[in-house]
Amino acid sequence: MQPRKSDRVADRDDSPGLLAPDTTGMNFYRADPALANLLRIHLPDSLFRHIEPHLDRLGELAGGRLDECARLADRHVPVLHQRDRFGRDIQWIEYHPSYRELERAAFGEFGIHAMSLRKGILGWPDKYPVTAKHAFTFLFNQAEFGLGCPINVTDGCAKLLANFGSEDLKAKYLDGLTQTDMSRLTQGGQFMTEKEGGSDVGTLATTAVREGDHWRLFGEKWFCSNADAEIVMLLARPEGAGPGTRGVGLFLMPRKLDGGLPNHYRIVRLKDKLGTRSMASGEIKLEGAIAYAVGRLDRGFVQMAEMVNSSRLSNGVKSTALMRRAYHDAMTVAQNRVVFGSRIIDLPLARRQLMKIMLATEQALSLSLATADALDRAEAGSQDAAALLRILTPTLKFRATRDARKVCGDAMEMRGGIGYIEEFATARLLRDAHLGSIWEGTGNIVAIDALARAVGRHGADAALAADLHARLDDSAIVPGGWRDRLRALTDRAVGFAREVAARGDNEADARRATSLLYHVASAVMLAFEGGRIQQLRGDARRLLLSRLVVDHRLGEGDPFRFADSATQRRITDFLLGEPAVGITEVGELLAA
Ligand SMILES: Cc1cc2nc3c(=O)[nH]c(=O)nc-3n(C[C@H](O)[C@H](O)[C@H](O)COP(=O)(O)OP(=O)(O)OC[C@H]3O[C@@H](n4cnc5c(N)ncnc54)[C@H](O)[C@@H]3O)c2cc1C
Repeated sequence: MQPRKSDRVADRDDSPGLLAPDTTGMNFYRADPALANLLRIHLPDSLFRHIEPHLDRLGELAGGRLDECARLADRHVPVLHQRDRFGRDIQWIEYHPSYRELERAAFGEFGIHAMSLRKGILGWPDKYPVTAKHAFTFLFNQAEFGLGCPINVTDGCAKLLANFGSEDLKAKYLDGLTQTDMSRLTQGGQFMTEKEGGSDVGTLATTAVREGDHWRLFGEKWFCSNADAEIVMLLARPEGAGPGTRGVGLFLMPRKLDGGLPNHYRIVRLKDKLGTRSMASGEIKLEGAIAYAVGRLDRGFVQMAEMVNSSRLSNGVKSTALMRRAYHDAMTVAQNRVVFGSRIIDLPLARRQLMKIMLATEQALSLSLATADALDRAEAGSQDAAALLRILTPTLKFRATRDARKVCGDAMEMRGGIGYIEEFATARLLRDAHLGSIWEGTGNIVAIDALARAVGRHGADAALAADLHARLDDSAIVPGGWRDRLRALTDRAVGFAREVAARGDNEADARRATSLLYHVASAVMLAFEGGRIQQLRGDARRLLLSRLVVDHRLGEGDPFRFADSATQRRITDFLLGEPAVGITEVGELLAA
């Protein structure tokens, strides 16, 4: 099946000329039927129907006005000022008005930071499940990735405070962190990293000295995103506490003291960053800053790990958003640009590239929502879901953030030379994409977390295996032969991860083992979803993606075979085309 020839280039009066258009004016929600279909699977119908008009509006804004704001905010970066206009030594950061507009949309209009913490956002009487919240994260970050961090850390700070803070601290600070009224909102920050160590947090040198009912902090924080956040959660070592992560406590540090004067810390300078340039990341000197202990002092690191893990999930979602945006851009180019007398999308080698961009994106979307769903179920009390979450979170963070680098680079190339030019979003996407795998744990750190801790220490692989098998058992509509293949792959991937975790000298295989878990889990999820969406809407196309994961990402088969076989071509034609694909046709292709 060949896709329809597009007449857009020839017929549109507003055609940008010889070059392909970009995604300007695209509604990122409407352009993404997979998102709606997956939300139908994961969310109760009433909730899905409630959020759909809001997602539609955010999708339109993200493809239009917010994208323009993101472009501007990326070019007009924040500036740190040392004094106010009256000559007082009050530091402040100047942001471009476009960044402020992005803030108003994310925090004010949609309340993404507060959705899972405060009832009543967007007229829903309850708090939203994390799965629903991240549908908004996903759409917003297709336009703007930099502000994604402040949204997420504000959410994370509020959650830490709600879970571990004293009643006094909650009464004082929780409302501001979850406000959608911009005049009352207090954004959050999370300052952990010091020069001594980002990965090796146990080496941190900031000290906390007790003074009555509060503490005073001395030291330096080396990477502080949302540097002027009003409420900061940070780690510091109480005087006299032991070494390592066990000796660090969790503290809340307000930017302003009760009388309105600035707290005793200084933003020394802002970082000149490759990506997320719209958002201010700085270095901070703590000069006796007043802070309050949160939860048990000897459990500071363990408590902070909750925030880190929810940020890792958010990172996976945001990297998926970058990939989806890159995919939209690549498809827009391929459907419109004519080379050697053909549209790019009609050329076999380009179709294969587009398919690969799509594949990584859909894998990440499936696993993002599966991880969010596990978090929702864990918070509802399921121990199995908590174990599943433990392994899915680092697995998603590891692979999706790395795939985003490649996908955004490949989408840039699809636009040719102009893709490298900053007037188009592709350059910004690629710059932003490189951050996902560094912050909140580098690739090595999250792979070690997945293998040594989630599998080795907590045995969370059993929960993953059980979940994947249960999904296959529950997918009677999926051809039996394909389910058997996925069952066998599940057992092999989990078995390999166990072996890597069990043998102390195998750490060098942690990344490969984590990738294998990711690919197998996504293949099963895609098959499960394909079956469900076939039942709901008569379209089994996600099952074809499940096959492509096995063929292309697990690298099964002979490397010398002709890759572009008739079956692969038909699968790609279905996936790059519009119409639904029924289960019978899909079944034939899976067996081929
Ligand atoms: C734009 C930006 C914003 C940031 N914002 C914040 C923020 O708001 N708050 C905050 O706290 N931090 C923030 N960070 C810091 C970030 O989380 C750290 O940079 C990151 O965790 C890595 O720590 P590091 O820089 O000390 O590198 P290191 O820990 O020194 O790592 C260097 C290399 O060593 C590798 N490595 C480390 N340990 C191991 C191991 N056991 N086995 C194998 N390899 C290993 C790492 O993978 C990495 O490749 C930000 C960083 C950036 C770039």
